[in-house]
Amino acid sequence: MYSSHPQSVCVLGSTGSIGVSTLDVLSRHPQQYRVFALTARERVEALAQQCREFRPHYAVVLDETRAQSLRQSLRTDGIETEVLSGIEGLCQVASDERVSVVMAAIVGAAGLKPTLAAVKAGKKVLLANKESLVMAGPLFMDALARSGAQMLPIDSEHNAIFQCLPYPCDSLDEAGVERILLTGSGGPFRTTDPAALERVTPEEACNHPNWSMGRKISVDSATMMNKGLEFIEACYLFRAAPADIQVVVHPQSIVHSMVQYRDGSLLAQMGNPDMRTPIAHALAFPQRIDSGVAALDLIAQGRLDFEAPDEVRFPCLRLAREAMEAGGSAPTTLNAANEVAVQAFLDGALPFTGIARVIEKVMKSTAVVELTDLDAVEKADQKARELAVEMLAAL
Ligand code: NAD
Ligand code: MG
Repeated sequence: MYSSHPQSVCVLGSTGSIGVSTLDVLSRHPQQYRVFALTARERVEALAQQCREFRPHYAVVLDETRAQSLRQSLRTDGIETEVLSGIEGLCQVASDERVSVVMAAIVGAAGLKPTLAAVKAGKKVLLANKESLVMAGPLFMDALARSGAQMLPIDSEHNAIFQCLPYPCDSLDEAGVERILLTGSGGPFRTTDPAALERVTPEEACNHPNWSMGRKISVDSATMMNKGLEFIEACYLFRAAPADIQVVVHPQSIVHSMVQYRDGSLLAQMGNPDMRTPIAHALAFPQRIDSGVAALDLIAQGRLDFEAPDEVRFPCLRLAREAMEAGGSAPTTLNAANEVAVQAFLDGALPFTGIARVIEKVMKSTAVVELTDLDAVEKADQKARELAVEMLAAL
């Protein structure tokens, strides 16, 4: 099954939750995959350790001072990895002609340029960084069509939907799809008294019942903005209209999403909640490789529950749907305001319930424009960030 030439993989955001899971899967298949580049923003010691283990051609650190300290540490150990820095370094390794697979696992808007560089260079792009697609969906889909790159979803829900659709699938209607059921656990506050949400702490918000993830996406799961971003992500990835997608709360996170067909069939992808499954799926597609994840024991699991989402408790879900319905720059604005508000919450400067309030105010005071190019995306992103900071100060 293994080809004689290992594929070169660039892991953007290798020190994060998805990055570490990716390296775990890659390390199980050394004949099939070679690590070409690893990147991180901080945690240089963790990156140095990954370089010692995987011996990549390149390591990229966002800022040059930290890059120098990594260079020093690798030189002392006699490791030949070349250390680059800055967004330019990230874009360079993501589009290097020797790379065939790029794992896009930087968190937030910072992932946009390197992920887009990988798409434009025609790579097989494994997309975890949902924010980049949410903020610049039309540009991504256009660049994909032009470059012939392949984009495979890593987000467990989208990976599940992808697995439940025929491949390729250019039109949901032609495939006989009636709707997509996007599942979400409801996060740590699904049953918390709404009055208590005002005072929940970042530690409580990051304590997800089923998944272990980075802090930003953990807060997004707690507000259900994660499901909102995923709703937008699904519209772009599967060329779906907002009305084609229904969010279903499924507290056990065993069914990762479903596709309902015209003939009454409902296809689901299931598995234990461990990101190594979608990572292994996308890496090897259309083959299947071992991911290290234990098989799902349905008898031990016993039951699976489903319920409707509560949009009063979780206004972010409504805000995301409204943004997608508005189109143009509205998802860009939503994403930027959310990033600012989540950071303020994590810094203790905004109550949990303030996140949705800030986003709604920013959305209401921003006109929707068309996303003609990257410049338009960056302007909309920047403007929303400035407005969000003003709203924070006013709260
Ligand atoms: P994380 O915070 O654990 O890791 C983020 C990685 O990006 C780190 O390596 C960090 O050094 C790097 N990074 C952060 N800011 C950067 C910047 N400004 N420039 C360059 N690099 C930067 O995050 P995560 O949980 O691994 O999530 C990564 C992405 O995957 C997010 O977009 C998230 O929504 C998505 N995702 C994560 C999960 C999950 O289970 N963790 C599931 C689905 C989707
Ligand atoms: Mg997800």
